[in-house]
Amino acid sequence: MDLFKKMGINNNTDKSSDKQNNKNTEKVKCLIIGSGPAGYTAAIYAARANMQPVMYQGMEAGGQLMTTTEVENFPGYPQGITGPIMMEDIKKQAERFGTDIRWGEITAANLSKRPFILESEDGVIIEAETVIIATGATAKYLGLPSEQRLRGGGVSACATCDGFFYRGKVVAVVGGGDTACEEATYLSGLASKVYLIVRKNFLRASKAMQTRVLSNPKIEVLFEHQTVEILGENKVTGIHLVEKLGTPEEHDKFIDIDGFFLAIGHTPNSKLFKDYLDLDEVGYINTIPGTSKTNIPGVFACGDVQDSHYRQAITAAGSGCMAALDAERFLASVEK
Ligand code: NDP
Repeated sequence: MDLFKKMGINNNTDKSSDKQNNKNTEKVKCLIIGSGPAGYTAAIYAARANMQPVMYQGMEAGGQLMTTTEVENFPGYPQGITGPIMMEDIKKQAERFGTDIRWGEITAANLSKRPFILESEDGVIIEAETVIIATGATAKYLGLPSEQRLRGGGVSACATCDGFFYRGKVVAVVGGGDTACEEATYLSGLASKVYLIVRKNFLRASKAMQTRVLSNPKIEVLFEHQTVEILGENKVTGIHLVEKLGTPEEHDKFIDIDGFFLAIGHTPNSKLFKDYLDLDEVGYINTIPGTSKTNIPGVFACGDVQDSHYRQAITAAGSGCMAALDAERFLASVEK
C-alpha cells in the first residue's frame, strides 16, 4: 500500500509538497492513538518525560469505561467510582502535564519506516517518531439483520448508556461472561424483568458475578438458548429463541421484550495497522512478552487492543505506563 501517494505527499515529506497538496503536516515525538485508561496513562508518563505527546481520542473518547457504572476494583477508590468520572480525572491528569489531546480519529497509517506517517480524520498529516496504539476493543454483535435494523430502536451494546430508557420494562441481555452479568445486574435496577440468554449450560463469569446474578429475583437466566431473531418493525417487541439448538430436544421460544442488550465480548481495534503489525488470529496486536513492543521498533501497543486475557482498567493503565517508558527508552536509544 502506498499510503504516501494515497495521502498526496511524497516519501520525503517536506513543507512545499505539503503546501502544494494543501495538507497540514506536523512532527511529533510521540503520537498516542486512543483514550482509555491505557492511552491516558501513556500520556501522563510521556508528558512527564517531556515527549510532548499528541493524543487522538478516537470515536469513543474515554473508551469502554465511559459506559461502565461503578468501578469497584481500581485501587485508590475505596468507595468505588463511576467510569466516566474516573476517565475525566485521568484525562485532566494527562492535560496537566501538557498532553495535546485532540478530538477525532487517526484514519490512515503508514508504519513502514520512521518517522511513521499517519493522518487524522480532519486531514492533519503527522510524522511521528514513536506511536503508542491504545485503540481498545469494540463490542461484538450477533450478526443478525434484525439486530442492525433495530439498533437505536431497542438494540444496544451498552446497558449503562441506554438502560435508562427501560425503566419498568422487560429486557434481555445476551452473553454469559462478566460483562453480561454486570449489564444484567445493572439493568435489574431499572427494568421490571431481565432475561439473561446464555448459549451454554454455564456462565463464564467470575463466581462473585454469578452469585449476584443467580440470586437476583429480577433476573431469569435462560441457559442453552440462542437468539435467532429480534422481533419488531421499528422497535424491539420480542425475541425468537431456540433452546438446545442442534439437539433432538431443540425447540423454539418467543419472549416479549422491549430492549435487547449485547454483551458477547469485543473485537480489538487493530484493523488500521494490520498491514504492518503482527496480530493474533482474533486481531489482538502481538507484543513482545513483558513489554509493549510490537514487531516494528518505535511502535508500541497497550490496553485492550493487545490484551485478550486480563482486559481490566488497571492492567490497561499499567500497560499504558509500559508503552510510554518503552517509547521514551526507544527515543533515547535512537537519538544516541
Ligand atoms: P467474554 O469473552 O468473557 O464472554 C463472552 C460471553 O458471550 C460468553 O459467555 C460467550 O459464550 C458469549 N458469546 C460469545 N459469542 C456469542 C454468540 N454469538 N451468541 C451467544 N453468546 C455468545 O467477554 P466479557 O466481555 O464478558 O469479558 C471480557 C473480559 O473482561 C473477561 O476477562 C472478563 O472477566 C473481564 N471483565 C471484568 C469485569 C469486572 O471485573 N468488573 C467486568 C466485565 C468484563 P461462550 O461462553 O459460550 O463462549
